[in-house]
Amino acid sequence: MDTTIYFFTGTGNSLQVAKDIAVKLGACELIPIAKIWQRENLASTSDNLGFIFPLYYSGLPKIVYDFIENIDLTKSEYIFAVVTSAGDITELPLQQIEKLLKVKPKAKSLNAGFLITMPNNYIIGYDIHSEKRQKEFFEREKAQVEKIAEIIKKKENNLNQNVFKKDLTRAERFNAKFREDVNEGDKNFYADDNCSNCGICEQVCPVNNITLVEGVPQWQHRCQQCLACINFCPERSIQFGKGTLKTQRYHHPNIKMQEIINQKS
Ligand code: SF4
Ligand code: SF4
Repeated sequence: MDTTIYFFTGTGNSLQVAKDIAVKLGACELIPIAKIWQRENLASTSDNLGFIFPLYYSGLPKIVYDFIENIDLTKSEYIFAVVTSAGDITELPLQQIEKLLKVKPKAKSLNAGFLITMPNNYIIGYDIHSEKRQKEFFEREKAQVEKIAEIIKKKENNLNQNVFKKDLTRAERFNAKFREDVNEGDKNFYADDNCSNCGICEQVCPVNNITLVEGVPQWQHRCQQCLACINFCPERSIQFGKGTLKTQRYHHPNIKMQEIINQKS
């Protein structure tokens, strides 16, 4: 394979972007971070390497941070990142990756970084975008992917070094606190009386954080806050405090639930 893309996804936005870029690149392997992140002796084998993941609390999701920190990238020369977000714009995830690459045994640098806006899935904070807005995001994503794939194919550097010099200390603190607390952040999840005991939440959780006890989901405090469980529950039974009683549910319309389930197997 010419290119390897490591991706993390909760409701399919980042997976769709990863799939679209892989098609444009041709010889490209997609590897789910959720499948391999806990393995020992992680090492890349491709010259070209990409990370595709959602923005969480201004920066990297904990699972992505831990994965990049642990993987040996000695064999990779061209490294890019694509961040999906529902509208927040920040260069912190690129800075975080650059810092993690710089302290590798053979120091590396991020060659290219991109931000793609996708529909909101963070329904514990905000309601989802209208269908019209979602379609606009999807159309724009296709156009962006064309350009991104061309840059990657040519192995271009698209990052000005000033990106890495910006003072994002406050955002870094915000994200660090999120990563510190996120595993235990599932304490507000519960299944209401509509639960049909189907087990889908247990299956879609990429980090096996949900166990059904007598048919009722119990969260095990190793959450990544990807929100797959709450968005894929077919009964809209899962709530996070009271706010989600009013919000709608979202997952990328082209991504099948089985693809989310498959990312850990
Ligand atoms: S997915 Fe929803 S309905 Fe199914 S077991 Fe989980 S909470 Fe219950
Ligand atoms: S418990 Fe829900 S939000 Fe937490 S990691 Fe699993 S699927 Fe994602």
